[in-house]
Amino acid sequence: MRNAAYDVVIVGAGIVGAACADEFTRRGLRVAIVDRDIVGSGATAAGMGHIVVMDDSQAQFALTRYSQRLWQALRPELPDDVEYEQCGTIWVARDEEELTEVQRKRDYYGNLGVPTEVLDSRGLRELETNLREGMAGGLLVPEDGVLYPPCAAGFLVKRAQERGANLRLGASVAQMGQGRILLNDGHELSAEIIVNAAGACALELTPGIQIMKRKGHLVITDRYPEFLRHQLVELGYLKSAHLVDGDSVAFNVQPRRTGQILIGSSRQYGAENKDVDSSILSRMLRRAQQFMPGLGAMSAVRTWTGFRAATSDKLPLIGPWPGDKSLFLATGHEGLGITTSLGTARILVDQITGAKPAIPVEPYLPSRSALGHAHV
Ligand SMILES: Cc1cc2nc3c(=O)[nH]c(=O)nc-3n(C[C@H](O)[C@H](O)[C@H](O)COP(=O)(O)OP(=O)(O)OC[C@H]3O[C@@H](n4cnc5c(N)ncnc54)[C@H](O)[C@@H]3O)c2cc1C
Repeated sequence: MRNAAYDVVIVGAGIVGAACADEFTRRGLRVAIVDRDIVGSGATAAGMGHIVVMDDSQAQFALTRYSQRLWQALRPELPDDVEYEQCGTIWVARDEEELTEVQRKRDYYGNLGVPTEVLDSRGLRELETNLREGMAGGLLVPEDGVLYPPCAAGFLVKRAQERGANLRLGASVAQMGQGRILLNDGHELSAEIIVNAAGACALELTPGIQIMKRKGHLVITDRYPEFLRHQLVELGYLKSAHLVDGDSVAFNVQPRRTGQILIGSSRQYGAENKDVDSSILSRMLRRAQQFMPGLGAMSAVRTWTGFRAATSDKLPLIGPWPGDKSLFLATGHEGLGITTSLGTARILVDQITGAKPAIPVEPYLPSRSALGHAHV
């Protein structure tokens, strides 16, 4: 490591690269962070910032819960602009069939130490008075929270810089591998360890990574204080997030500290441009109004899109890339990268420094999906 200009060069200053920079510098390594744009400008700027425990698989649960606890531990140090609020999630069940899922989720979470509360139809309406009447019930997960992702990334990068990290913005990477990073302007950086944290663009830098771009739309409203108190997600969200083909929308709304409401969400494969698709947007808003009719009367102040980096098994790629001893991946977080950024950074740096990770790393190793090899 001593012969290299840096111990570690991280490509990508989104929430994942930022968390990695924070963690590497915490362990005393010399770090450079390179981004072609500004800190937190990619999917991190487009995301919802829901810090949520999910249980599509044991491995997804392990990483989301571990990461959520890391966020909770970090909370006292987070600046005000990160807007961390532990508002809790309510998974909304429309009918008896979805109530079965409420019970299953309650049991699963309960067995693993995550507090929850089952709500009947009345209890649900008492907590969220603007939900349509007649919903069957829901599951409150009170330890889930929300934050403002670009400022969280900014905080982590700043902390890494205070420990000596070098931040290079506006520097586009053309190629990376074998300990070298070649910038588009001809400059070259070298390091014993290089980390591809380029989000949905990671594939451009490491051919063979199995990720696909999955586009999402979000809308933010004007200020309507007290309209919404928890992050509300329909249980049908799980079905739509699982769809591999076709476009999907689901009811997913978030209260912001400002009184604004963030309305999501959509999922599309094969849509590579950033434009807002009015048909998807209308579908998403219609879906939201089926759950909360009052949303229809609100003013929207902005609508945008972003790209999730999706893998086929819905787990991120965290660890060494086969065929290049210097190259590590931290990407493929799909719709959970804000939540799982801190856990990702911990288990990546644990793998590199030989420390014992708090959770098993095998489910996230890139070797499970490697199709080819990295090259410079
Ligand atoms: C609509 C939507 C809603 C979401 N909601 C949530 C949520 O509620 N909770 C949650 O946990 N997650 C959510 N996500 C997912 C989350 O936003 C992402 O998983 C996360 O932001 C990924 O962070 P990242 O650092 O890996 O990627 P990014 O934030 O995309 O960062 C990658 C960085 O790499 C840089 N880069 C790329 N190529 C190059 C290059 N060649 N040279 C130099 N720099 C380069 C880019 O400029 C960028 O800054 C959502 C995503 C979307 C789209």
